[in-house]
Amino acid sequence: MRKKIIAGNWKMNKTPSETVKLIEELKPLVKNDDVDVVFCVPAISLTTAMEAAKGSNICIGAENMFYEESGAYTGEIAPNMLTDIGVKYVIIGHSERREYFAESDVTVNKKVLKALEHGITPIICCGESLTQREQGITIDWIRQQIKIAFLNVTAEQAATTVIAYEPIWAIGTGKVATTEQAQEVCAAIRECIGELYGEATAEAIRIQYGGSVTAASAPELFVQPDIDGGLVGGASLKPDFGKIVNYNK
Ligand code: PEP
Repeated sequence: MRKKIIAGNWKMNKTPSETVKLIEELKPLVKNDDVDVVFCVPAISLTTAMEAAKGSNICIGAENMFYEESGAYTGEIAPNMLTDIGVKYVIIGHSERREYFAESDVTVNKKVLKALEHGITPIICCGESLTQREQGITIDWIRQQIKIAFLNVTAEQAATTVIAYEPIWAIGTGKVATTEQAQEVCAAIRECIGELYGEATAEAIRIQYGGSVTAASAPELFVQPDIDGGLVGGASLKPDFGKIVNYNK
């Protein structure tokens, strides 16, 4: 039985001091033993967030990471900078990073490999644009993203990763994919992982849905057979996130 994982993606929101306040506010609201709870916060707030979350069920994750160990990469964050402060998760290949920072499937793969090498769980994002959905190539597109993201990743490593299916047209738009659309693509992702690694890995890997998830849409989405939780943007900055985490109560 896969444990659900619900992660907040804070994006470029909240200063370090606001981070402490928000974590204090959300801490009592996001208790749920059935769910792994992750707050992915801006790099500058990671240390503060780790402190603020101490003693709670909240794990802290980064929103990005570079694929080299160290060196002349101005502005980047190395994996050992994350592990040094106890960060356990990192979002890789969010569509906003692909769109605004030229991330490609190839850099996603490099980052996934590097995160795994350092024992950090990557939350690997994939998703189609509205045009691709309308062209009927959603599944082909996602399969290609997955196959490249997992190049040279072993079955044992793959089983520990998290995939976030995020239709780009649903991110920050208020348009949630229908439960059927979300389940269909998450099932196709699991099938693709099965083809690459076999049944056991496909059964173990956790697949999230992301895209305008709210307290109202979460309960139906998260009980789908292939949806193991969510990656939540806007609603993760509000008390509503507590309701999303407690979707099953
Ligand atoms: C996201 O940023 O990953 C996301 C899903 O955002 P939102 O929930 O705001 O659509």
